[in-house]
Amino acid sequence: MSRFVAHFIDGRSTATDTGRTGDVFDPALGFVQARVAFADDDTVDLAVRAARAAFPAWRDTPLGKRSEVLFAFRELLRANAGRFAQIVSSEHGKIVSDAGGEVTRALEVVDFACSLPHMMKGEFSESVSRSVDTYSIRQPLGVCAGITPFNFPMMVPAWMFAIAIACGNTFVLKPSERDPSASMLVAELLAQAGLPHGVFNVVHGDKVAVDALLRHPDVAAVSFVGSTPIARYVYATAAANGKRVQALGGAKNHLVVMPDADVAAAADALVSAAYGSAGQRCMAISASVCVGDVADALVGAVRERIAKLKIGPGHDDRNDMGPVVTAQARERIVDYIAQGAAAGAELVVDGRGVEVPGHEQGFFVGPTLFDRVTPEMSIYSDEIFGPVLVNLRVDSLDSALDLINRNPYGNGTSIFTRSGGAAHKFQREVQVGMVGVNVPIPVPVGYYSFGGWKASLFGDLHVYGEDGFRFYTRGKAVTARWDESSTGINLGFPTHK
Ligand code: NAD
Repeated sequence: MSRFVAHFIDGRSTATDTGRTGDVFDPALGFVQARVAFADDDTVDLAVRAARAAFPAWRDTPLGKRSEVLFAFRELLRANAGRFAQIVSSEHGKIVSDAGGEVTRALEVVDFACSLPHMMKGEFSESVSRSVDTYSIRQPLGVCAGITPFNFPMMVPAWMFAIAIACGNTFVLKPSERDPSASMLVAELLAQAGLPHGVFNVVHGDKVAVDALLRHPDVAAVSFVGSTPIARYVYATAAANGKRVQALGGAKNHLVVMPDADVAAAADALVSAAYGSAGQRCMAISASVCVGDVADALVGAVRERIAKLKIGPGHDDRNDMGPVVTAQARERIVDYIAQGAAAGAELVVDGRGVEVPGHEQGFFVGPTLFDRVTPEMSIYSDEIFGPVLVNLRVDSLDSALDLINRNPYGNGTSIFTRSGGAAHKFQREVQVGMVGVNVPIPVPVGYYSFGGWKASLFGDLHVYGEDGFRFYTRGKAVTARWDESSTGINLGFPTHK
């Protein structure tokens, strides 16, 4: 019988029998490698109650002790980086070295979370009035929930739980049901690092588990990362239930290539950013925008590079690109390729029908390149989330900006140019949350914050970095007078005089 992935509640692996489970595939071979428990309302309630019970003691744990636990976790994460990469690769399909990169970026966020004694500092103003001081403090919220997507099963949960726990909250994670095992190793290592039982819990499942978290009266805040329709739903539902919420959605990320750009460097960057992780990154470049006469040279250079990519199972680091996550994902992507061809786009490289010997049942789609794409085509307007790059041709930087700013998504974007003026205009005028200049995937480092604009983020604060600390705490301002003399009776509104 295949492996079974249980929940992790109050410090132990817990398999409640809800009669529902999900299949976890090996995407390279196309078979079911494990089953994962699906939580119902009662299971979610068990986890939230464990988190609520653990909250007062964790909130009152001194800052230095909390950061010690996170430092210990950081060391365990480093020591187990290879194990994480294997687990992520086997369930997601991405190449092991690529999965290793995800672990490195997760570590960066944990590094930043370790600075919690500094980040939790408040402000102090002496003498805001006679003998009166004012100071601000930041306090944790209580039980926080994280709901995460399949494409970064290690890194995206870390964006949330590391900062939430650093702030003194307790946490319930609902990872993607497609690749649930990395979060179980996280739970094991946090416990080994000395995190008290109940501070970090994992419930697996689908919409049933998500809805139970969104409605639970003891969940104070919800962080979500996933597709835009679900992000919109989570934002509205959690807010209607009185919770603080940040919901990051999908993307269509453009890379603009100016006529003065180094074509070889731009083509290298495009191929890496479009086809890495088989295009299943929220910061993948899925649309290139060629300005002026650079298009023919760029499309030719990308086509040459695609021909050299090796497609195969993720466990073999000699491969460049693995399969996509499920058979349904492959069908959706293949269908989009057909739609693009039917709509009249030029199919320069067709990834359908790619063959990987010994992996005939695997969920492989080859790198695909379309040229002369127009904004009305579904291959441009929709997030495909696969190895499909579409190229659009425009006549000026203004037209490129107009195209990007009209797109409903606003996660990441990039410009390749040798002109400081063009780069400056671009970063100033583009309506996108994360911008690259001669950098194709501008994911901010752990001490900045990550987040898109428009349909790529519902809510106000981005994740991790300083915004993360703000999201997972609430402010309190204290105005104090330590002077025993009376100020006399004055029914007027208090002023600073
Ligand atoms: P998804 O929206 O299908 O699932 C995300 C989470 O929501 C999962 O935990 C899933 O179980 C849950 N879910 C799915 N359907 C639901 C429903 N009807 N009701 C309630 N919960 C539901 O996303 P995915 O396919 O796992 O991940 C890919 C998507 O995530 C892409 O759109 C990608 O752009 C996006 N993404 C965005 C970012 C970002 O930072 N903006 C990062 C990573 C991924």
